[in-house]
Amino acid sequence: FVFEDDVNHFINATTMDCDEFKVESPIEPTLVDEREALPIYTFRDQLLKAVCDHQVLVITGETGSGKTTQIPQYLHEAGYTKRGKIGCTQPRRVAAMSVAARVAQEMGVKLGHEVGYSIRFENCTSEKTVLKYMTDGMLLRELLGEPDLASYSVLMVDEAHERTISTDILFGLVKDIVRFRPDLKLLISSATLDAKKFSDFFDSAPIFEIPGRQYPVEISYTKAPEANYLDAAIVTVLQIHVTQPDGDILVFLTGQEEIETAEEMLNQRMKGLASKIAQLVIFQIYGNLPTERQAKIFEPTPKGARKVVLATNIAETSLTIDGIKYVIDPGFCKMKTCNPRTEMESLLVTPISKASAMQRAGRAGRTGPGKCFRLYTAYDYHNDMEDNTAPEIQRTNLANVVLTLKTLGINNLMNFEFMDPPPVEALLKALELLYALSALNKSGELTKIGRKMAEFPLDPKLSRMIVASDRYKCSGEIITIAAMLSVGYDIFYCPKNRKLLADSAKMNFHRGHVGDHIALLNVYTSWKETNFSTQWCYDNFVQVRSMKRARDIRDQLEGLLERVEIELTPNTSDIEAIKKAITSGFFTHSSRLLKNGSYQTVKHPQTVYIHPTSGLSHEHPKWVIYNELVLTTKEYMRQVTEIKSEWLLEIAPHYYQLKDVEDSGSKLLGHKEGH
Ligand code: ADP
Ligand code: MG
Repeated sequence: FVFEDDVNHFINATTMDCDEFKVESPIEPTLVDEREALPIYTFRDQLLKAVCDHQVLVITGETGSGKTTQIPQYLHEAGYTKRGKIGCTQPRRVAAMSVAARVAQEMGVKLGHEVGYSIRFENCTSEKTVLKYMTDGMLLRELLGEPDLASYSVLMVDEAHERTISTDILFGLVKDIVRFRPDLKLLISSATLDAKKFSDFFDSAPIFEIPGRQYPVEISYTKAPEANYLDAAIVTVLQIHVTQPDGDILVFLTGQEEIETAEEMLNQRMKGLASKIAQLVIFQIYGNLPTERQAKIFEPTPKGARKVVLATNIAETSLTIDGIKYVIDPGFCKMKTCNPRTEMESLLVTPISKASAMQRAGRAGRTGPGKCFRLYTAYDYHNDMEDNTAPEIQRTNLANVVLTLKTLGINNLMNFEFMDPPPVEALLKALELLYALSALNKSGELTKIGRKMAEFPLDPKLSRMIVASDRYKCSGEIITIAAMLSVGYDIFYCPKNRKLLADSAKMNFHRGHVGDHIALLNVYTSWKETNFSTQWCYDNFVQVRSMKRARDIRDQLEGLLERVEIELTPNTSDIEAIKKAITSGFFTHSSRLLKNGSYQTVKHPQTVYIHPTSGLSHEHPKWVIYNELVLTTKEYMRQVTEIKSEWLLEIAPHYYQLKDVEDSGSKLLGHKEGH
């Protein structure tokens, strides 16, 4: 990236505000045609009849057949919204927003009015809303306030095949709700996979199949494994562009960073090619893509040009981009995995399953015959890839869902109806953590602290930190830190050609070696002191968009403080109190310095390092706590703060013993003279 480009996208960036999607014009006639051209349209009446006849219905159909955008509209047209809202859950935030925007447009209404969406920290609905798209996680939270879903007439659990942890928990909960709410219609919709399994789980609910219109897709493999799949992907894009007839290209990559690198590489290599080559327009799509750029990927390709979409596996089934004829599949995705030995959760680049590979290839054959280029060998596909990806519930940390279930009054988790139960050890680990955080008592019952924690749509460690801030009289600072940690985008901005300046601007916030949490607080308070100035952000290499989002999240957390009766106590200069509050949430994430300069996590010892972007990466404090571990070339701790070892005993005497925090172990850093 050159700096100028990024400044532009900086300036255009605004807060994620649903008004950006404002549609005031009446329904465009072409949209009516487009709706009627979808495969599902022919089955409209049959589908409505099936919904009328059955309380629970499993619906399958190829991605792009119109399930997500059309079914809620059909039901609305058929009058279901007279009795209550139609809710439609999506595993991904971007999908919820983008689909809601599309449906609002198709219905000729303003987004947020009749059609809205609700995702964490962002509610774009109103009194008028009758079609509500939301993440599965948000519906779980809604159940806390409305356990029988009384305000809904229909619930569609969409993209069920994704089997996210929240969707899996919803399955168990809604199965129970439909028993005592015979007027509630439940639709489970998915891309063709696993329909039988869903039907079995919901007491043999009928399956409604929307026949796909899939054109043939020619699949090719590489002869030998690719050493660098990113490079191979770029070369393949260019080869297609130069040698193949018209048609857009979809490339599956693993994350934002990789997508940005790929765009940079593509731009560079295009510059090197002869000018007679047609234009290549590049689009990105990933989970944290700013709203204003999401809509762009759906714009038609300019005449004479070719579109390349660099996407994460969000484009596998959640979003359909029309016009794709070529798919490039390097065979990887980023997946949350929990190391069972160390209990550490990280996002890892992992080979995809055969089912995913088939879905990806299918994206090339929606509107005509297509081609899929797999950047792995046929041997790998047949012999090394798993058939299906294990559901998330079997590979992640369960603390959050266990807390939600406990709050919903589901005490005996062993009796909960899971479609695929999580490993018992994982459940026990979650209970242990919640007990350590004092959210549960010894008998596994929700405590007062736990009840307060559950009010916050945050990881239990973050909510524990907020609840603890009451005692340390620093709730104002702590919700700022929690908001800054929850933004999801980078806070700092580091253009390559001004790296030194950017680094020194960043280090300003670290003055006094305060640690990353306090540095985040400093960024926010300095910005606030300038009355939230955009210019200040530019001057300090801070991303405006991230800051606005942090402010928005902070406002919401402030509102929640009131609900749980924690007093807002702003403006303490007592850094130690703030650090202790952080430690109260994150004491399980502690590590100590070893002689060789690396760190070792205190419980379940594992070697870790301070992330190079941390303000403490050159400091070597003896004891630290960290926000999260990320595995790249090494296991890195990200967002690190120095603590005193005795705090661990003071704050978590039930978790740490003296021997855990003694400095004198032989392997450990001894006295300075010992070096
Ligand atoms: P399914 O849920 O069966 O995969 P969808 O209802 O998501 O299918 O998609 C139906 C059609 O709507 C597709 O052709 C897709 O390209 C289009 N579509 C969906 N979202 C948008 C959007 N935000 N902008 C433009 N078109 C969209
Ligand atoms: Mg869909």
